[in-house]
Amino acid sequence: MSFASQGFCPEIVQALEQCGYRKMTPIQQKAIPLARKGHDILANAQTGTGKTAAFALPILQSMVENPQPRSRRHVRGLILAPTRELAQQVADNVRQYHQFLSFTSAVAYGGVKMAGQAKALEAGVDILVATPGRLQELMEMNMVSLAQVEYLVLDEADRMLDMGFIGDIQRIRAQIKLPHQTMLFSATYPPKMKQLAAEMLKKPKIVAAGEENRTADTVAHVFYPVDEDRKIELLSELIGRKNWQQVLVFVNYKEHADAIAEELNRDGLATGVCHGDRSQGNRRRALQEFKEGKLRVLVATDVAARGLDIQGLPHVVNYDLPFLAEDYVHRIGRTGRAGLQGHAVSLVGREDELTALQVERMIGQKVRRVEQPGYEAKQRDQLVDKLHSKAAFRDRKGRSNRATADQSGAERQLRLRQAVKARLKQR
Ligand code: AMP
Repeated sequence: MSFASQGFCPEIVQALEQCGYRKMTPIQQKAIPLARKGHDILANAQTGTGKTAAFALPILQSMVENPQPRSRRHVRGLILAPTRELAQQVADNVRQYHQFLSFTSAVAYGGVKMAGQAKALEAGVDILVATPGRLQELMEMNMVSLAQVEYLVLDEADRMLDMGFIGDIQRIRAQIKLPHQTMLFSATYPPKMKQLAAEMLKKPKIVAAGEENRTADTVAHVFYPVDEDRKIELLSELIGRKNWQQVLVFVNYKEHADAIAEELNRDGLATGVCHGDRSQGNRRRALQEFKEGKLRVLVATDVAARGLDIQGLPHVVNYDLPFLAEDYVHRIGRTGRAGLQGHAVSLVGREDELTALQVERMIGQKVRRVEQPGYEAKQRDQLVDKLHSKAAFRDRKGRSNRATADQSGAERQLRLRQAVKARLKQR
């Protein structure tokens, strides 16, 4: 189905041509006609499905059809995103979509000075993309008012809940005074999301980009069993030997990100890091250099890399499997986009085996295991057999990403840290 069939104004059609969009993606085909009719939307769509256009284009078209004068420090459309990077990315897309219209948009997130953002909001904007924390700060200082918001979008709503933004979202919503259209986009749909949706949405239309929690069909998944203390070595060898040119590496701990990057740089692989301890400018620069190909490898934590759109990313590596199998889907969502072949590699340590099984269940396929010669994991087969036995799986409680609630997670962190240190010392 083409965009033309949706009756978008010539300026939007021109912008989409400039973006190179020819056909609508499945989520766009399903969500756009319903959003254009003004329905609230509950959309199950992971990163890379074209969800930004799915919510932004109907809003822009509706604004074209119902023009309103801009008033000082007010916004008409509010898009909430969990992280700075995602907010910036959504704002960049929105700006592209309205580039031939006389609309204005702005982005607001923490970690940078408020003055510039306040200035951008002074005259009022048609669309504001913001993280919940910074938006509240701006509201408290009367730099922005939500009294005239007509469109509200929660992007990556599941991640906002995971990050503890539920209170912020409720406070923000309480400031919206006009009847408004709400669209909630989420890659996963846990019970607390259902509750939030029930609170926020009026007779929502439910749309899904594909089966829940399934990764793109164009992604080839591979597990490399390897002992924990040899992961760095294997990673460096895989990237070098197989000549992977653009590799996003996920780690569970930011401490490891720095150590791994240091090690890869030492091996001659230009590597940057993107995690919460780095300044906003630093993260943005690393991401930009990675996108431009100046950096061959980017080592990132989940939160920092959440939702990032890196066009045509060929390789995603899980240095550790994520604590929660559903995060595997989020991470891998960055490769195999828009029909391109993607490659999802996971270094599976002994401690990762249980999660590896959960990942296979979640994506609905058995993942190919490749033993890299020289890195065969010791006595792993026995362990895998044991885990595959039903009782072991039934009794497992699942891992948690809350360190305080998960003693084994804390122990593992310590062990991993020691392993990284030990490897660095050996050099
Ligand atoms: P998103 O899921 O919104 O982050 O979009 C993922 C990527 O797909 C972005 O790079 C978009 O620019 C791109 N995209 C969105 N819609 C389309 C489309 N209809 N055709 C081609 N690319 C698209």
